[in-house]
Amino acid sequence: MKPASFKYCRPDSAEEACSLLREHGADARVLAGGQSLVPLMNMRILQPRVLIDINRCSDLAYLREEDGTVACGALTRQGDAEFSALVAEQVPLLAAALPHVGVRASRNFGTVCGSLAHADPLGELPSVAMALDARFVIASSRGKREVGAEEFFISALTNCLAPDEMLAEVRFPVARARSASVFLEISNRAHGFAVAGLAICVEMSEGRHCSQARLAAMGTGDTTTRLKEVETLLEGQTLDGAIIDEAGALATRMAEPLDDVHASAAYRRQVMGSLVKRALRRVLERAS
Ligand SMILES: Cc1cc2nc3c(=O)[nH]c(=O)nc-3n(C[C@H](O)[C@H](O)[C@H](O)COP(=O)(O)OP(=O)(O)OC[C@H]3O[C@@H](n4cnc5c(N)ncnc54)[C@H](O)[C@@H]3O)c2cc1C
Repeated sequence: MKPASFKYCRPDSAEEACSLLREHGADARVLAGGQSLVPLMNMRILQPRVLIDINRCSDLAYLREEDGTVACGALTRQGDAEFSALVAEQVPLLAAALPHVGVRASRNFGTVCGSLAHADPLGELPSVAMALDARFVIASSRGKREVGAEEFFISALTNCLAPDEMLAEVRFPVARARSASVFLEISNRAHGFAVAGLAICVEMSEGRHCSQARLAAMGTGDTTTRLKEVETLLEGQTLDGAIIDEAGALATRMAEPLDDVHASAAYRRQVMGSLVKRALRRVLERAS
């Protein structure tokens, strides 16, 4: 199928993109890598009247270390982040998740911010942003504002952006010295969308003592969700086999997963418990 007709705009800077958004508001969509937007337009699920293609906004293409974070501009391709030494060293959870996002060809075009703005509940990058408590820099011709991951994701394919706003940058905190992170997912096909997945980041103090745990699950709701009961159980505890089993059982009990053509809710519930246990065992191995 072909998309419905639309007006095509190609700004050269973020500022120009913002003034086009101010002019066209809810009639417009930002086009980044096009890996989700174009199929949705071809199927006529989305029919924006105006497309604002940011691919010439070179001021949005960067990955840099800044104030204890790695800042990723709206035009940073998933593939560039995947092979970035800075990301590998400073944001290992993002580096671990990126190879799971689609296929090499989709990552060459698809952007990190586009995947976050798309807010797919089974997208890998929203769960990474949630587990790391990434900060989202939102721009419009009214200025800039910053929100956390929990504020950014509203529900399936819905974020907190107003019609005249764009996601200009996402900031991932640099990994602390005594932290360990793990990304795991289960899918029906090796390169398919996940059935369920988990991004976790655990901070340890002395030995195996867990001082902070953040677990973000994919496939357990209409957006990526923090497993807060499991986090509370783990914090202040010494990680060992018993607490890990308890955490897995709690995740299975608490999860309210999606029930769809790809997997039943009961299956996803079991998978979530197993992923929690597997991820925590890896954290423990690293701590040892
Ligand atoms: C074969 C294939 C397999 C895939 N598998 C996966 C997978 O396993 N996991 C996964 O997570 N994704 C998967 N995807 C989707 C892919 O990761 C997309 O790249 C991503 O969802 C969107 O990024 P994009 O840059 O292509 O955004 P686009 O498609 O250009 O835009 C997506 C949406 O976000 C909005 N948007 C984009 N950038 C901004 C911005 N800066 N500010 C405001 N709004 C913005 C657009 O208006 C649109 O609504 C797959 C895609 C393909 C083609």
